[in-house]
Amino acid sequence: MSTDKRKAKLLKLQERYAQELPGKVKEIFVTWEKLLADCDNAQLWELMIRQPHSLAGSGTTFGYPDITRIARELEELVKNSQQDSQSKGFASKVQALIIELEAASKLKPQEATLAPSSTQNQSKLGGKHAQSTIYLLDQTEANDPTLTKQLSFYGYELIAFPDSKSLRQAIQTQLPCCFIVKIAGDYQQSFKQVKQLKEISGNNTPLIVIAKESSTELRLLAVRAGANAFFDEPFRSIRLIDSLDQLTERGEHTPYRILIVDDSQATADYYSLSLQNAGMETEVVTKPLDIMRHMVEFEPDLILMDLYMPECSGGELSELIRQQEGYVGTPIVFLSAETNPEAQIDAMSYGADEFLTKPVRIRHLVAVVKIRVQRFRQVKSLIVRDSLTGLYNHTHTKELLERETNLSNRNGKPLQFAMIDIDHFKLVNDNYGHPVGDSVIKILARLLKQSLRSTDIIGRYGGEEFAVILPDTNEKEAEIILNKIRQDFSEIVLTSEHGDVRCTFSAGIAGYPALKSSADITQSADEALYFSKRNGRNQVSLSQQEEALSTGTEE
Ligand code: GH3
Ligand code: MG
Ligand code: MG
Repeated sequence: MSTDKRKAKLLKLQERYAQELPGKVKEIFVTWEKLLADCDNAQLWELMIRQPHSLAGSGTTFGYPDITRIARELEELVKNSQQDSQSKGFASKVQALIIELEAASKLKPQEATLAPSSTQNQSKLGGKHAQSTIYLLDQTEANDPTLTKQLSFYGYELIAFPDSKSLRQAIQTQLPCCFIVKIAGDYQQSFKQVKQLKEISGNNTPLIVIAKESSTELRLLAVRAGANAFFDEPFRSIRLIDSLDQLTERGEHTPYRILIVDDSQATADYYSLSLQNAGMETEVVTKPLDIMRHMVEFEPDLILMDLYMPECSGGELSELIRQQEGYVGTPIVFLSAETNPEAQIDAMSYGADEFLTKPVRIRHLVAVVKIRVQRFRQVKSLIVRDSLTGLYNHTHTKELLERETNLSNRNGKPLQFAMIDIDHFKLVNDNYGHPVGDSVIKILARLLKQSLRSTDIIGRYGGEEFAVILPDTNEKEAEIILNKIRQDFSEIVLTSEHGDVRCTFSAGIAGYPALKSSADITQSADEALYFSKRNGRNQVSLSQQEEALSTGTEE
């Protein structure tokens, strides 16, 4: 959706809110009349607090700051006088506030505004990042071809520039996926260049500093200049590659996914539009009890939650979420009209991470959400990813297979699961050494990443075993894809001090609809892999069930 479209949608929301507002004030008046006739009715008292509370939360958002102010006063008044409702003046104060609300509801609203558009992945130059090109600023004249060669094994192309002027010229046409700056001599000058590079690339291109020495002071200068990683010479090139893999993957990050839980559709839509405008993906839940389905399917990076909802409270809902393994770390941010600090702390104690008070400035909301999601993704990546390859680890791959299989069972779309095992890998370790074995594993990981779609899921299933989940793919397609990767892998030559290394792999494929459960799929893929091994290795086999299904001879 374009910004203009979102603005138009926002206007519509505002119009709808304006239309519904007098009715909402009327509801408060009705509750009040009932309460006068039935003043011991606890439900009515609760309603008499909740209705103004909801208006207080939404008023300013839709251009009615007076509504927020008066409704909040009314909510406080009712809350504080509940014990002492017979007190003199209480009833007339309530009535006066309701009349004020009525008057304010008929005024023309102030213009509601959207949050500023996203600057994610935009540099001042508006340039696109090259997928695998690295620009090296090396003023040390120590032109080192081994680094270029090493990086090329991992799919990176290193282009060296002797001065910052020529580097800046290159940026005009194309941004790299990462900068590397070698720091030497005049530190002040070097870090100034680092800072400039970060700035002209919109602070969006990762930058690695390589220095001749290491001290906390030097590292601090690097951090201040905006560097994302620091290496002091000599270092092992594999560590630099790890860092590059990590940093550049973060650069191409998928949009943040925010789940908005609010019983008011209009309020939820408003925050949804604002966050979308900041480049995020959103999903709205207005029925709190539906939340678990959205947690599983949408997999939010953060939940933005209203505190008071009719079916259950935000506090209860966060506790419910926290009690489920897998969602212990998902950030929960309360967004509520509740201004009482005690009640806020109370709500947080259920496991929320932050409390924002409605109406919230959108800039503030966006900033809080971004910071929380960034940290969440960092921590999550440590938990679900394998440190050698950056692929999903065994446990997470299994979880994802289960999720994808469930999804296929529901939507009927095919799904394939491939298990891959490097052939005679023990010999690689024995003949060339363990570090070379590691490099082979990393090269296959990279090849899989490069060859598959972004929607495919790649895991390191064990030592030299990998697993690939291909959603929306039938077995024949999967076979073709895997065979292409198998062919490419067999042609890669890795140089080592004990000579050239070549490897092959075997694979087995199974999937939905031939099999319905992730356990059956895993077992059959494993059997198919075993068949490939027995049958001579360096090949891809479909499971028996798949073969039977595709030839129509299933018994
Ligand atoms: P096959 O073709 O039958 O699969 O033979 P293989 O030698 O590949 O199979 P096997 O499972 O017997 O050996 C796997 C070897 O992989 C054993 C283990 O030392 C090695 N390995 C497991 N994880 C790693 C790792 O992270 N790095 C390295 N370098 N080696 C690993
Ligand atoms: Mg093995
Ligand atoms: Mg093996």
